[in-house]
Amino acid sequence: MKIILLGPQGSGKGTQASRLAEKNGAKHISTGDIVRAEIKSGSDLGKKVQEYNDRGDLVPDETIIEMFKPHLDGADAWILDGFPRNESQAKALDEALDELGITLDKAVALEAPDDDLVARLSGRRQSEATGKIYHVEHDPPPENSSDDPGPFIQRDDDTEEAIRNRLNIYHEQTEPLKDYYERQNLLATVDAMQEIDAVTKDVLGAVGER
Ligand code: AMP
Repeated sequence: MKIILLGPQGSGKGTQASRLAEKNGAKHISTGDIVRAEIKSGSDLGKKVQEYNDRGDLVPDETIIEMFKPHLDGADAWILDGFPRNESQAKALDEALDELGITLDKAVALEAPDDDLVARLSGRRQSEATGKIYHVEHDPPPENSSDDPGPFIQRDDDTEEAIRNRLNIYHEQTEPLKDYYERQNLLATVDAMQEIDAVTKDVLGAVGER
């Protein structure tokens, strides 16, 4: 399995990617997680990318491509979550795959209306202990659980202003990638507003697995 998950922030790309990875052993490569890990490390690169992250802006292509590429090496099954985000990144990915002599199986786009996404994202909390994602109303973080002790953190870029900025960038720069992959006959679309299990089922169906 070599697939890209496309979709706006809050459409559940991260959740679905980890479920698929768990199910079939593919490597879940999230450029957002790579960026946050770099910020947490306190490195110079982390300081540089933090400004973009906190505003909800995209990190410059050259930087994110350098950060992303090493994660592709050696893995024969993977799910890309958050990369590519624009046409120049998609072309860089095509070149990297050419160099490695491998082909992409599918680009699956998760679709949902903006207003629902804003509601989802502003209630989102992530466990610092396990990385698991919760929602204050729909899937509240556990209290006093040894499986997931937390703490449960709101991301710096999950403020309403940064969320709206990220959604605008998605529509302007990332959504056109649906056409990019459609032209290569690789696109499938899935309704991301369904129950989590139904979304997983549709994604698996789209990539020819169950
Ligand atoms: P995400 O968790 O995918 O929403 O990513 C969080 C932040 O990391 C984004 O708002 C960007 O600042 C940065 N980032 C992640 N992936 C990319 C990418 N492919 N291109 C540029 N910036 C990215």
